[in-house]
Amino acid sequence: MEAATNIGAASVSPEPGDITICLYCGAKLKFDTQLKQVPLSVDEFEKLDPETREQFRKISRLIRTPVFRDRLKLPPLTV
Ligand SMILES: [Zn+2]
Repeated sequence: MEAATNIGAASVSPEPGDITICLYCGAKLKFDTQLKQVPLSVDEFEKLDPETREQFRKISRLIRTPVFRDRLKLPPLTV
């Protein structure tokens, strides 16, 4: 699954429309035509296949856990 294999693989160049996840806050993102990361809309998220959505939810939840943040030396979330 492309969404998961791209995460953490810095050598893989993203293409417009690729989806990713913010490792800082767990936000769902996509690359726009300029390859800038922009938030994924609810509509766009719902169009993903169920397996991809589930992976996103799991990773997003994980990123927000104190244990994970501590391990990656991320500051605690304020929201
Ligand atoms: Zn973020």
